[in-house]
Amino acid sequence: MKCDLCDSKKAKIRYISRSYGNDEELFVIENIPLISCPDCGESYFTAETMKKIEAIKQQKTSISVAKNILVAKFAS
Ligand SMILES: [Zn+2]
Repeated sequence: MKCDLCDSKKAKIRYISRSYGNDEELFVIENIPLISCPDCGESYFTAETMKKIEAIKQQKTSISVAKNILVAKFAS
């Protein structure tokens, strides 16, 4: 697909998980499409994806399933 930033055609979609919120109320969204472009080295969400993320965050209590997750801290 086409990269919005440099017009390269090598951009690819990767699906990632992102966490939002803080320790008390951590919220994870899985399977978010992230566009990665090998030519300009950028990774970004499309405007449409950003909108959808906001919508999911608004209705997180009604559409989420509780999962036990392991959380690791990168920094000590
Ligand atoms: Zn690019």
